[in-house]
Amino acid sequence: MISVVTKPSVVIEDYKGVIDDSLFDEIHELAQKLRDVRVCHVNATSYGGGVAEILQKEIPLAKSLDLKFDWKTISAYPAFFDVTKKIHNALQGNPLTISDKEWQVYSSCNIDQIKQINPSDYDVFFIHDPQPAEIINCIGKNGAKWVWRCHIDTSEPNQKVADYFLKFLDMYDASIFTMADYVLKGMDKNIFIIPPAIDALSEKNRLMNRKEAKKIVERFGVDTTRPIATQVSRFDPWKDPIGVVESYKIAKAKVPNLQLVMIGSMADDDPEGEQIFKEVKRHASGDKDIFLLSNQDGVHDLEVNAFQTYSDVIMQKSTKEGFGLTVSEALWKETPVIGGNVGGIPTQIEDGKTGFLVNSKEECAEKIVYLIQNKDIAHEMGKKGREVVRQNFLLPRLLRDELKVIEQLTKD
Ligand code: UDP
Repeated sequence: MISVVTKPSVVIEDYKGVIDDSLFDEIHELAQKLRDVRVCHVNATSYGGGVAEILQKEIPLAKSLDLKFDWKTISAYPAFFDVTKKIHNALQGNPLTISDKEWQVYSSCNIDQIKQINPSDYDVFFIHDPQPAEIINCIGKNGAKWVWRCHIDTSEPNQKVADYFLKFLDMYDASIFTMADYVLKGMDKNIFIIPPAIDALSEKNRLMNRKEAKKIVERFGVDTTRPIATQVSRFDPWKDPIGVVESYKIAKAKVPNLQLVMIGSMADDDPEGEQIFKEVKRHASGDKDIFLLSNQDGVHDLEVNAFQTYSDVIMQKSTKEGFGLTVSEALWKETPVIGGNVGGIPTQIEDGKTGFLVNSKEECAEKIVYLIQNKDIAHEMGKKGREVVRQNFLLPRLLRDELKVIEQLTKD
């Protein structure tokens, strides 16, 4: 287990004027009450993907309120992440099989983690996703309260794999799912439904003027006088990167000067990334208007912000999606989003009002063309989207919801 040291980031006062005053007061009140509760978040990685993105921002925000929040990640061999990516895919419905040997790798790595953690150091554990979920079974509850925080779409899981987890998920004092549909059958104790959130004030999401964004986008050779459609996502089959390229190709027949930007960092716990990246590259080859960029090209938070700000359209064409932070990130910048009509995306996009929900590459292409040819409507949609995000998907709301869970679990 590795302790993650977070950089001081925003403090709650910075959110004054962004969030409603009532939320601000509620957070202060809860933080005052829960100041002595020692909380530990545990997940798989400190970099790449939505969970790391949330914790990088949430832990410093909590600390700024004098809350005792720590964050630890699993230390593991690549073989463990090969297995946990399979588990992740299975819990999202892939009918694959996990062999006994693979389950052993999973279990023994969870056992290894307990050497570096003393449960009596904490009052509440938040265990994120399946990777560290078995730790509770290896170490015992030791008087602490344990919460399993599931970020993935487990509405139609591969039941064999789900059954393995259900054996010990019952030990948890509470579970949090992003949507009610995701609650695994057989779980009924202390279930909370809490969607994730973005940090509106971070480098990735702060308001950037178009001039600054333009300069950054141009650094990567993208022509800012021509239309740009972008997807920001790990290279993962559920994010449908090939479908994105195909949608672009169909749209290009009607908008010949269209450019496609695909930004995809390689997450530490995602071994599939490299291979899918190569596949996408093969698919895109020969087209100079397709830009495949990653953190290895210098695309970090600032650059993601610039592309989300400057693009005419942001896509999140997933075929399964727990939530999809990238949707809220783009809407916060008033950029309309075309999202796959799956998982947590429809909670963020109201079809036809703040963007479009699509079920195929043809529909996706049609909406790209529409948004590029109807700039005023696109702009109006983006504006409405920003307000939806302000009210529902900003970090203080998430912290408030989690503090309420902590309050409930520690009240006696
Ligand atoms: N992200 C990034 N660079 C990339 C790809 C993704 O910074 O090249 C970020 C993205 O901005 C978002 C997070 O990674 O904050 C992805 O979260 P999401 O919920 O969309 O998907 P997940 O990866 O958790 O499935």
